[in-house]
Amino acid sequence: ATPTAVMMGVGLGARQGILFRNAEALERAGKLSVLVVDKTGTLTEGRPTVTAVQPAAGSDAGRLLQWVASLEAGSEHPLARAVLERAQAEGLPLLPADGFRAEPGHGVLGLVEGHQLRVGTPDWSVPLDEAQRDAVAALASRGQTVVSVAVDGAFAGLIALADAVRPSSRAAIEALAGQGVRVVMLTGDNADTAAAVARELGIAEFRAGVKPADKANAVTEFKAGGALVAMAGDGVNDAPALAAADVSFAMRSGSDVAIEAADITLMHNDLAHVAAAISLSRSTLRKIR
Ligand code: ADP
Ligand code: MG
Repeated sequence: ATPTAVMMGVGLGARQGILFRNAEALERAGKLSVLVVDKTGTLTEGRPTVTAVQPAAGSDAGRLLQWVASLEAGSEHPLARAVLERAQAEGLPLLPADGFRAEPGHGVLGLVEGHQLRVGTPDWSVPLDEAQRDAVAALASRGQTVVSVAVDGAFAGLIALADAVRPSSRAAIEALAGQGVRVVMLTGDNADTAAAVARELGIAEFRAGVKPADKANAVTEFKAGGALVAMAGDGVNDAPALAAADVSFAMRSGSDVAIEAADITLMHNDLAHVAAAISLSRSTLRKIR
């Protein structure tokens, strides 16, 4: 494409809310063949809300929520914010917490009222028995994220959170398929939750339980297969994968770290704009050389 055509393409993109960092970003977008896409905050709104609090038999839901919220006060994770909002809505005051620690991709731990709490992915918090596992699967099969709670090493209950898919995501996946792009969803969430979201969006390929460091490895793996690989994400966790990709897209609503790492920023947080960027790139590249 001529430099003028590329400049026009970049300008056209900007008018639609697709910000290309430079000419190469526009030129490469049309050639991508694999799009690796983060689930939480990219395909979904990234604003989960608590849908269920299920204490272990014999314990109290309010108390469980209060303890978990007291610990989550130390976390900046969207799941933590959702728990805190729910506790506040129920008028539950926060208790002092000590020794707070976050394990990225797993959960949080610390002391509340002298008790050791672990809140995070089922199995990381505490080994689950079959009935507890079934309870997790029932909630997760509806696409909800399920965190389990352990108090002093004993199972204390489950909290389910729902994060709505962005209304535009389904059409975006369809448009990308029409362009011949292979879409692979990555998430730190569990397999049942991931499968439910993938089904809802018509995504054929996904990987669940992906630790933050492994997102970039997945991108590298697809590149090694010879594909031109794009990554779309929003989180701090996604920055290494965005940097590893040939072309990277960040959501405007995402973290600054993700936006800084990205070649293309989607100002309307709409994944359909990935398909639009590809079209724009392809039509630009067709313009006389
Ligand atoms: P994603 O890739 O979907 O954005 P993360 O890697 O941030 O997910 O987290 C993966 C999983 O770790 C979450 O689904 C949750 O089960 C658990 N987790 C992480 N942080 C927290 C937290 N602050 N509170 C509870 N659970 C957490
Ligand atoms: Mg995310």
